[in-house]
Amino acid sequence: MGFDLESIVRENVRNLVPYSSARSEFSGDARVFLDANENSFGSPVGRGYNRYPDPVQSKLKEIIADINDLGTNNIFIGNGSDEAIDLVIRIFCRPRIDNVLICPPTYGMYEVSAAINDVEVKRANLTRDFQLDVDAIKTAVDVNTRLIFICSPNNPTGNCMRRNTILRIASLFRGIVVVDEAYTHFSKQQSLIDELDRFPNLVVLQTFSKAWGLAGVRVGLAFADKRIIDLFNKVKPPYNVSQVAQEVIIAALEKRSEVAQTAAEIVMEREVLRTVLRRFTFVKKIYPSDANFLLVKVTNATELYKYLLNEQIVVRDRSNIELCEDCLRITIGKTSEDRALLQALKKYEKSVVH
Ligand SMILES: *Cc1c(COP(=O)(O)O)cnc(C)c1O
Repeated sequence: MGFDLESIVRENVRNLVPYSSARSEFSGDARVFLDANENSFGSPVGRGYNRYPDPVQSKLKEIIADINDLGTNNIFIGNGSDEAIDLVIRIFCRPRIDNVLICPPTYGMYEVSAAINDVEVKRANLTRDFQLDVDAIKTAVDVNTRLIFICSPNNPTGNCMRRNTILRIASLFRGIVVVDEAYTHFSKQQSLIDELDRFPNLVVLQTFSKAWGLAGVRVGLAFADKRIIDLFNKVKPPYNVSQVAQEVIIAALEKRSEVAQTAAEIVMEREVLRTVLRRFTFVKKIYPSDANFLLVKVTNATELYKYLLNEQIVVRDRSNIELCEDCLRITIGKTSEDRALLQALKKYEKSVVH
């Protein structure tokens, strides 16, 4: 089965004449700009925010391209990677006709975005050890399956999917394989962006929300073959990344060695937390993690979750998710926060009779 991009793009998207914004029709230097109905008098806060931002984020893309050894035309920048998830569904899936495949337990947005777009979701659960079940995937895929979402490192299980398995799926599948690498900076496994040359149907998602510590700025990335990125650019809202966001991300990229340092500290803190958590009698299992959280199986997850809430500590109760029964997902905090968690857990251990 060969991959043919043209044949899987929605016809309305293929034929779309994209919105032409003032700033995309003219993007050079000029003496006077009277083309975009901006407020030429300025804003209360100055800083040039009265002007529309660069719709294609050229400067930011050049920096990201340089760091990742890619072309700027292999990069889409979105309002969080959640925007890329929505767009990839809209580009390839005809509502009520096509479907996407997910591998639960996994990130909830794939399913929600599909539902918003009236696109059916097929499922191929992960195996007991949270790896991709290739046979189940082969069984679940049909002629209308346009996308397979693979999250690696996976949320909420924390582990990476095997690289060779992902690539095998990408080479067998005639649709798009979306690999969500939101947590890649906490993992030793190499990013799949190195494989984009060999796999024209691969889309790799990354985000500034996790290791970069910039969840509030809302910037995410999709890396792919130029022809796929062209489609993203066609359907994206004209000014989807604000000027403020572009500036903040450029400033952060200048300090990227600090980010690598923080990610390494979080990984160390994660393993310290694992060692201590293991000693509690009510902790049944702590899963391996390549991310900034631990998935922890306990005796009574919902009871413990409520207890922690009462102690004003919020973790994520994942116990009603298939294969995550009695599991809590605990984000790695600052040392002081993790200490507060551990103290609360000690109190809990004393209070429950087992
Ligand atoms: C947190 C997370 C994201 C990030 O989404 P943004 O919209 O970029 O904040 C993406 N994918 C997964 C699996 C996540 O856990």
